[in-house]
Amino acid sequence: MASNSTQYQGACICKSIHITLQGEPVKAMACHCIDCQKSAGGPYQTCAIYDTQNMTVDDPSNNLKKYVFPKETVGSGHEKHKFFCGACGTHLYNQPMKHNGEKSVIKTGFLDSADGPGVNLFEPMGELFTKDRASFVAPIQGAKQFERGF
Ligand SMILES: [Zn+2]
Ligand SMILES: [Zn+2]
Repeated sequence: MASNSTQYQGACICKSIHITLQGEPVKAMACHCIDCQKSAGGPYQTCAIYDTQNMTVDDPSNNLKKYVFPKETVGSGHEKHKFFCGACGTHLYNQPMKHNGEKSVIKTGFLDSADGPGVNLFEPMGELFTKDRASFVAPIQGAKQFERGF
C-alpha cells in the first residue's frame, strides 16, 4: 500500500504530546455540532478519521486526559470519548464507542505542516450538523452538506 508510507504529525500547544498518523485519512470532515463548538471555543471543528491502529500517541509526561460523553447525550446512543492534553487543554481526538475505539476522529487543528497551518492538510469533503452552523459561517465549497450526522 503506497499511500501508507505518508506520515502526518502534530503536537498540542505545550508540545508534551506528539501524535503520528500513518497514511491518508479515511475521511475528512467539518463538524458544526454543539459539542464541537464548545470544544473548539468557536464555530466548528475539522476532523480526519483514522483507524486507531494507524495513530501513535507519544505522551512521556502522561498528560493525556479523557472525558466521556455519556451515551444518553450522543446521537449514536454510544459513549464518545474525548482526548485532550491535561496541561494545555488542546483537544486532540475523539473515539466514538460506536466503533469500540477502533476509529479515531483526529482534530486537525493540532497537526503541524511545513507549509503553514496544519489544518490545511485535509480539506473537508463533508460538513456535519449544518443545522447548528454559525450564522456568519458560509458552507465550504464542494463539501457535501449533512444536516445532522451521516
Ligand atoms: Zn499540551
Ligand atoms: Zn461535532
